[in-house]
Amino acid sequence: GEVITLQGAGKTYPGGLTALDNADLTIREGELVAIVGPSGSGKSTLLNLMGTLDRPSSGRVEVLGHDVATLSDRRLSAVRARWIGFVFQQFFLSPHLSALDNVATGLLYHGIGHSRRRERAAEALTRVGLGHRLDHKPHELSGGERQRTAIARAVVSRPRIVLADEPTGALDSTSGAAVVQLLRDLNAQGTTIAVITHDRQLADSLPRRVRILDGRIQEDDMAGTAA
Ligand code: ADP
Ligand code: ADP
Repeated sequence: GEVITLQGAGKTYPGGLTALDNADLTIREGELVAIVGPSGSGKSTLLNLMGTLDRPSSGRVEVLGHDVATLSDRRLSAVRARWIGFVFQQFFLSPHLSALDNVATGLLYHGIGHSRRRERAAEALTRVGLGHRLDHKPHELSGGERQRTAIARAVVSRPRIVLADEPTGALDSTSGAAVVQLLRDLNAQGTTIAVITHDRQLADSLPRRVRILDGRIQEDDMAGTAA
């Protein structure tokens, strides 16, 4: 089914800048989509709408069947916390928490007790190849390990959607490739993923590309071709 649907969605910021203009986009369950376009074209604005972090100024955005424009803030945060995982270029780990405790924060507000949260966090870190780094603080981890920790935090709650904003942007190519492989594995297990990337090689390797230019969405011209 459809996981994310934008119909004529627009976003105009206070001050009058239209960052997204009349956007139509459907993302189906199990897709792995690259979002590409120059700086300032509206990629983050689109990701924020898909992640229910922001509401459209016009048109319709539906995420997992919820109309983002009309849901209360409280219900919107609940949908987001339960079903959407976020990964950012800058990781956003808490510097004073171990990898394990950082990942366990992904289960706060899920009604899961402290020790079970830690068990789930250890499992998630093991799945990203960091079972030997549970007690390390972020400054004791490499860039690639930090991003894998952030991915573990994003998926420890088993979200249906993962949204990644330049997840390889701060990494060397080897660590970047490991992060991409993790995202592919997650996708192969059924998680729907959208990735903003400036990395053309990465984007070209994904099954679908959505390109944005000046707030306007265009599918890359490979529609209908086998991925
Ligand atoms: P990208 O992610 O492709 O770089 P963004 O979605 O961040 O693009 O930004 C699209 C446009 O909207 C840019 O011109 C940017 O300056 C503007 N913009 C982004 N966020 C805000 C905001 N909170 N307030 C005002 N303008 C914004
Ligand atoms: P430029 O060639 O100056 O980068 P483009 O409009 O071709 O300008 O691309 C804008 C941005 O989007 C660039 O950062 C580019 O790497 C990225 N990009 C463009 N097309 C693709 C594509 N097919 N796959 C991956 N990334 C792309």
